[in-house]
Amino acid sequence: MARDWHNWARTASASPTDVIAATDPRQISEVIVRAAQAGRTVRMVGSGHSFTTTAVANDIMITPGSLTGVRSVDAAAGRITVEAGIDLTTLCEVLDANGLALTNMGDVRVQTMAGALQTGTHGSGRASGTFAEMVTELEIVLADGSIVTVNAQNDPDLFNSARVGLGAFGIVTAITLAVEPKFRLHAHEFPATIEEVQQNFDAWTASHDHVEFYWFPHTDKCLVKHNDRTYDEAAPPGKFANWWEERFIANTVFGAMCRLGRAAPGYIPLLNKTAGRVLSDRDYIDDSWLVFTSPRNVKFKEMEYSLPRGSLMPALTRVRKLIADRHWRISFPVEVRSVPGDSAWLSPATERDTGYLAFHAFDRTDDEWFVDVENVLREYNGRPHWGKMHTRSHADLAAAYPRWDDVLAVRDRVDPHRVFANDYTRTVLGE
Ligand SMILES: Cc1cc2nc3c(=O)[nH]c(=O)nc-3n(C[C@H](O)[C@H](O)[C@H](O)COP(=O)(O)OP(=O)(O)OC[C@H]3O[C@@H](n4cnc5c(N)ncnc54)[C@H](O)[C@@H]3O)c2cc1C
Repeated sequence: MARDWHNWARTASASPTDVIAATDPRQISEVIVRAAQAGRTVRMVGSGHSFTTTAVANDIMITPGSLTGVRSVDAAAGRITVEAGIDLTTLCEVLDANGLALTNMGDVRVQTMAGALQTGTHGSGRASGTFAEMVTELEIVLADGSIVTVNAQNDPDLFNSARVGLGAFGIVTAITLAVEPKFRLHAHEFPATIEEVQQNFDAWTASHDHVEFYWFPHTDKCLVKHNDRTYDEAAPPGKFANWWEERFIANTVFGAMCRLGRAAPGYIPLLNKTAGRVLSDRDYIDDSWLVFTSPRNVKFKEMEYSLPRGSLMPALTRVRKLIADRHWRISFPVEVRSVPGDSAWLSPATERDTGYLAFHAFDRTDDEWFVDVENVLREYNGRPHWGKMHTRSHADLAAAYPRWDDVLAVRDRVDPHRVFANDYTRTVLGE
């Protein structure tokens, strides 16, 4: 059955010839074998939360279907094995019910586990890295239909390629994650000037478990977030305060300001200054997954770049100057995070301590400025987030990834006829 598809941000769409709801690895294996024999292509989609065309499947599209269960939980060993299509909210609920939690998370929990993994999804952390670092084993269906379970011992090359694999190495059917006893986070959010934040970011990231900040373009204002582990009693923001801050101010009021900014871009600096003035201090304690993530109702487009950690602040200073010089009107705050380097060969954080700069454009507004910002970030050996807008291709990505040739060799080994290709993989990995 064919069905048109588009992603969350409506920046990518597909008209698949066939749409198949996943049930189990054997069914997926049969689909792949038939597709390979007929010279067709197969892609699995997650929740469509990538901004790029990475998930686009114009031939055979596999959807998460009922491949969303939990296979096993071993609380004593700190391991959980889940099916690929489980969404992160369900995963967190299951972990919580078993006294467990993920070590680190990004800003939202609506993605599927496999989808989040495949593009290198990350949060911010002093000692805890991207999702790829939590994976101990992957079950994956390869182009010849074989169902294999790979880890760092039995096939390190495939394990290192397919953890952040852009769907190009096979269909992931199950993932085993190293998890830990559940913990709470003490969140401290506070306003600060961009000069103060740029000066203190290194010291803060050294002394707090998770640090990130948002800088409001056209102002010197930032909102800083420090999250630190605690086993103190939960003291969540009151129901009303939570609704007010996260639903109303962060989504409804912000959405209205963005619409106003779209209708009259000249007002954006004033709107950002107003937003910067109402930022306030907030302190609360809650279960880790409830602090890491929050709802995002305002639609946007995003580009995010990974940079060598030491280049993060110099690159941000250059981008601030660029925004001022070009007189662009940017309504969304720039988000800044950092993680330790990781070992997945296609992870934008591979083999280097990493800082991230994320740029957003409101739904249906001009995002041409992304390209000029991207040119600056290239100079710092920036690597794009695979799920977020960028204009890079394999010719200029190769030099940014130390294990690039090894990745391509693994792809040739496991998918020589490119059963898992789409236009995105052809662009970023080559034919
Ligand atoms: C509001 C919002 C907030 C976000 N916040 C963050 C953040 O804080 N940090 C961050 O790093 N990113 C963030 N992202 C980006 C997002 O985490 C990634 O783009 C992620 O890949 C989306 O997961 P998904 O389940 O929607 O997968 P999709 O976008 O549907 O697919 C992603 C890729 O995975 C492949 N894939 C899916 N399932 C399988 C499978 N079973 N086997 C093989 N390949 C598969 C797809 O083909 C595609 O290549 C955010 C995105 C949005 C829209």
